[in-house]
Amino acid sequence: MNIVYNFSAGPAMIPKDVLYKAKKELQNWKQLGSSIMEISHRSEEFIQVALEAEQDLRDLLKIPDSFKVLFCQGGARGQFSAVPMNLLNNSKTADYINSGYWSNCAFIEAKKYCIPQSIFIRKTHNKRESLLSMNQWNINKNSAYIHYCPNETIDGLSIYEEPNFENKIIIGDFSSFILSRPINIENYDLIYAGAQKNIGPAGITIIIIREKLIRNPSKISPSILDYQKISEHNSMFNTPPTFSWYLSGLVFKWLKKQGGLKKIEKLNQKKSDLLYKKIDDSDFYINEINVKNRSKMNVVFHLIEPKLNQIFLKKASELGLNYLKGHSIVGGMRASIYNAMPLEGVQSLIKFMSYFENRYG
Ligand SMILES: *Cc1c(COP(=O)(O)O)cnc(C)c1O
Repeated sequence: MNIVYNFSAGPAMIPKDVLYKAKKELQNWKQLGSSIMEISHRSEEFIQVALEAEQDLRDLLKIPDSFKVLFCQGGARGQFSAVPMNLLNNSKTADYINSGYWSNCAFIEAKKYCIPQSIFIRKTHNKRESLLSMNQWNINKNSAYIHYCPNETIDGLSIYEEPNFENKIIIGDFSSFILSRPINIENYDLIYAGAQKNIGPAGITIIIIREKLIRNPSKISPSILDYQKISEHNSMFNTPPTFSWYLSGLVFKWLKKQGGLKKIEKLNQKKSDLLYKKIDDSDFYINEINVKNRSKMNVVFHLIEPKLNQIFLKKASELGLNYLKGHSIVGGMRASIYNAMPLEGVQSLIKFMSYFENRYG
């Protein structure tokens, strides 16, 4: 079998070294004669895993002590509800920056809890799509917080600017952006991310929240989405997804071994530069997003001739280049090239794209 490169948007590729380690210790973890899935989350051994995962994440992202890290369930969509329930704080409105599919989903969910304001920031100029920069966002004075999504996984749009709004609580859906580059956590109040994009295993959701914002949520909040309760119980109010937690921890250690986020950022830059260059150099593949808002994680492109989509996908997967189909609402192709995608995977894809263009273009 060819080497397989998995371009899935999520659940996505996990570093091979991590899978190898997990496999090696699966049936007899730490000489306990059991797998990690079969032991109590309250055992000394598991608590050690949980603490190390948190510390490694803190080291990678340089999370200050004034922030809590919570490991939750319910995915990013769970946070679409948890955020308003925990942070509206008697306010009746919040600002939802609309940059694409996922930020709009967060807005729609928030309508259950308040009257959110949707702030549309996409614009098209000379057929090029871009996003308004932050100083052009039309922020509402009375909003409880600003919610935005720095990487729209489906649309392939990113915001690299970091927020700087006076006296505003800033919330980011980092599901497909977290750990792709260093960020200054102090510029945010809460960021959350489902693990299945740029970390690995579905099932765990990471929340990094400024501690002073943890307070009583609305009375209707389910306890499992209540930040205070989760925090008081060290993310073990209900049984956590222990295997995903453990595997995420292995990914954090792998990231440290790669040299941390500065190194990873450079590699992600290189991978995405190569792929966008391939697209821009050809008349056969198209991406119409302004360079400053192009995602380095999810590279969306179209074939000039949509009739060739099926055959492109078929030929690609015959060569072990899998899951390149774009999301149905955007169409075309999407290459998700998260941290776990090696440079060689991107190079193989580019080679295939050249071959395909020569053969069918
Ligand atoms: C995948 C994704 C979601 C949804 O995540 P779930 O864990 O399935 O709820 C939300 N936001 C973004 C940016 C995503 O990429």
